[in-house]
Amino acid sequence: MSGSSSAISRRRLLQGAGAMWLLSVSQVGLAAGASQVIAVRVWPSSTYTRVTLESNRMLKYRQFALSNPERVVVDLEGVQLNSILKGLSGQIRGDDPFIKSARVGQFDPKTVRLVFELKQNVTPHLFALAPVAEFKERTVMDLYPANTNSEQDPLLALLEDYNNGQLDKKVPPAGPQPGKAGRDRPIVIMLDPGHGGEDPGAIGKYKTREKDVVLQIARRLRTLIQKEPNMKVYMTRNEDIFIPLKVRVAKAQKQRADLFVSIHADAFTNRSARGSSVFALSTKGATSAAAKYLAETQNAADLIGGVSKSGDRYLDHTMLDMVQSLTINDSLKFGKEVLNRLGNINKLHKNRVDQAGFAVLKAPEIPSILVETAFISNVEEERKLKTAAFQQQVAESILAGIKAYFADSSTLARRA
Ligand SMILES: [Zn+2]
Repeated sequence: MSGSSSAISRRRLLQGAGAMWLLSVSQVGLAAGASQVIAVRVWPSSTYTRVTLESNRMLKYRQFALSNPERVVVDLEGVQLNSILKGLSGQIRGDDPFIKSARVGQFDPKTVRLVFELKQNVTPHLFALAPVAEFKERTVMDLYPANTNSEQDPLLALLEDYNNGQLDKKVPPAGPQPGKAGRDRPIVIMLDPGHGGEDPGAIGKYKTREKDVVLQIARRLRTLIQKEPNMKVYMTRNEDIFIPLKVRVAKAQKQRADLFVSIHADAFTNRSARGSSVFALSTKGATSAAAKYLAETQNAADLIGGVSKSGDRYLDHTMLDMVQSLTINDSLKFGKEVLNRLGNINKLHKNRVDQAGFAVLKAPEIPSILVETAFISNVEEERKLKTAAFQQQVAESILAGIKAYFADSSTLARRA
C-alpha cells in the first residue's frame, strides 16, 4: 500500500469520461454547509452486495434494522435529497441476492432516509473511505448473508475474517501440498483477475474496463485448465466483485495453490506505450522505475476498491519476510515461461521478467506472477484486448507457460 497520490492520480486520469462525469456533478449547486451525495453505486454479487455513497463531505449516518418485512435503514444527517439519491432505487437489480428494493425519502428537514428491503437476513457492515484517486468521500455499506454457513462458502469465510481483523490468525501461510504436483496429485492453480466492483482498474480511451477484460481472459484460461486431467483451477473472483488483495492471497493459501497467476492490463499516461509484460515478486523492491510505478498503482487498488479501516493494516511486512528466495526463483522461472509464449502473440513491453513489490504477489511459498496482458491505454491494444481471439491467445500462452514450468524436471524436484 505504498501508492503515492500522484502516481494514483496519473493513472486515474486515464479513466477519462467516468471521472469527468463525477467532477461535473460535484460542481453543481453545492449548498453551503450541506453534505451533497454526488454518486451512488450498487455492486451486487453472490457473496455480498456493496452500496457506495460518494459525497463532497464525510456523511453522518445511522443504521438500524426493521422487521416484517426485513429491512435495513440508513439515515443520512445534514443531507438534502437530490436526483442522485433518488436514482438509488433504479440501481437495484432484479438478480441482487440480498436487496429486493430500495426507497429514498426526506425523513425530516435534516435527514434523508434510505430503506433497503431485503431478500434474506443480512449482516450490514458500514464504513467510511477517505478520498483517493478521483473518488471523494465514500460511505460504504456491505451486506453479508446472516444465516449462511460460512464453512460452505470459503470466500465468505475469508471476507468475514478479514472484516474482523482475524485473517492472519485464521489463515496461516501454507505452501503447496506435499507430493509432486502433476504426478502424485493435481497441480493447483489460482487465477486472479485484477480489480473488480468499485475498482475498475485502468480504463481505455474507448471505455474498455480492465476489470472486465481480465475477467474474460481468466475465464477462458479456467476453461482450458479444466480440460487438463492433472490440474485443478480456482479463481479469486468470477464476477464483478471487489475482493481485497490480502483476501485474494489468503484464498490461494487456503487452497494450497502451486501457482498464483494475477491477470491485469497495463496503462500509462503515454498512449504509445504497448506490449505484454510479466512481473515476479521481489523482496528487494522494484527493479525498474516502471515496475515501481506499477507496483504503487496496483497496490493502491485496495484504497480505490475500498477496504474498511477497521479490519486490517494490510501491508504486512512479516509476510514479505517469509517469502523465501526459492519461491522468487520459481516465480521468475515460471514468469519467463509465460513471457516467452506471450512474445509469440504480442509485442513484448520488456524482454525479461521484471520484479516488483506487488502486494498481491506476496504469497509466501506460492510461486506467483502478475501478467500485464497488454496496454489498455494504447488504442490498438485496447481493441485487441476486447477480441475473443486475443483473449484466447493470452489464455493459451499462460497455460503453455504453466505446462512448461511443470515439465521442467528441476521444478518437479524442488517441489517434491
Ligand atoms: Zn491492474
